[in-house]
Amino acid sequence: MTTIPLADLKAQYASIKDEVNSAIQSVIDETAFVKGRFVKAFEESFAEKNGARHCIGVANGTDAIYIALRAFGIGRGDEVITTAFSWISTAETIQQAGATPVFVDIHPDYYTIDPSKIEEKITERTKAIIPVHLYGQPADMKPIVAVARAHGLKIIEDSAQAHFAEYNGQKVGTFGDAATFSFYPGKNLGAYGDGGAVITDDDGLAETIRRIANHGALGKHDHEIGGVNSRLDGIQAAVLSVKLQYIDEWNRRRNEIGNRYNDALAGVGDLVTPKIHPAAEHIFHVYTVRTEKRDALKEVLSEEGISTGIHYPVALPFLPPFTDLGYTGEQLPVAFDYQDKILSLPMYPELTSTQIERVTSAIALFYEQE
Ligand SMILES: *Cc1c(COP(=O)(O)O)cnc(C)c1O
Repeated sequence: MTTIPLADLKAQYASIKDEVNSAIQSVIDETAFVKGRFVKAFEESFAEKNGARHCIGVANGTDAIYIALRAFGIGRGDEVITTAFSWISTAETIQQAGATPVFVDIHPDYYTIDPSKIEEKITERTKAIIPVHLYGQPADMKPIVAVARAHGLKIIEDSAQAHFAEYNGQKVGTFGDAATFSFYPGKNLGAYGDGGAVITDDDGLAETIRRIANHGALGKHDHEIGGVNSRLDGIQAAVLSVKLQYIDEWNRRRNEIGNRYNDALAGVGDLVTPKIHPAAEHIFHVYTVRTEKRDALKEVLSEEGISTGIHYPVALPFLPPFTDLGYTGEQLPVAFDYQDKILSLPMYPELTSTQIERVTSAIALFYEQE
């Protein structure tokens, strides 16, 4: 029995091996390791494909958020509102910048920040909102933009899990003031190492971001502001440019698989399958169900050679770096409840019909034998 992984980067590499290998070879031949034409070409095509004026490549998706916060001048004494449910980067970067994360519970159907609970968290210190397009599903941007505009808050869209997902026919990352992306290998658009980017339409902001990411300088020895060393490297950019040609097809396939799972798993046991927001084009970075029997189901699937994951086992406010802030389960009931019930099933574009069938049958059998 072969195992079904949660994601399969080898299958994807096999499908684009020659192109990727020759792209990497070109970077080495030109020793264009840091900066250079491969980075510039990727930045331009990524910006264009998103419909944004600027893209600044950075070292990873975590730095992208930190640098965007810094570029807005957010730091000590400031508060930044974000979702209680995400990968740690979303909140750790707020602390890195010196500001305080303020957590808002998630919408019970969509797992993204609940827009109706944002306004009550806004204070005089609030400077920005970081919504996350979690699991590949756009956050509900219309009410988020409305509340941000009403209170003069910046929006940084954490788009690490949602490259080219759409909301009302518009690409995520183009609703706020800036958006950040990760190209971690397992992301929908993944490099062969770490990588990240910030996109924005604001010329001045783009220049500040580029400075901060490059020791506060645009040219050599032109250190005008405090910065960091966080750049996308040439080899990663070249790999990403190859993959950019296939991302729409891969996202389309993920959406198809997500819908296949939804159909096959509807009404099975106590499973709650993911709901797609009516305005959203979901690109299923991960496919996550909920069940009271999460740990037992995970165990049985593992015995069947089916890998699963938990995204994420502890909601952000309850992780050690944030417990000082004093959040309780009653204050964030949805995130608190869901952390023990969620389970992510295998999801990647190369997943075959036979594999999908094996996963859904194993789950059905689990509930029959209950
Ligand atoms: C992956 C991820 C990041 C950070 O990306 P890295 O490139 O790993 O630093 C940030 N936010 C979210 C929601 C992510 O999933």
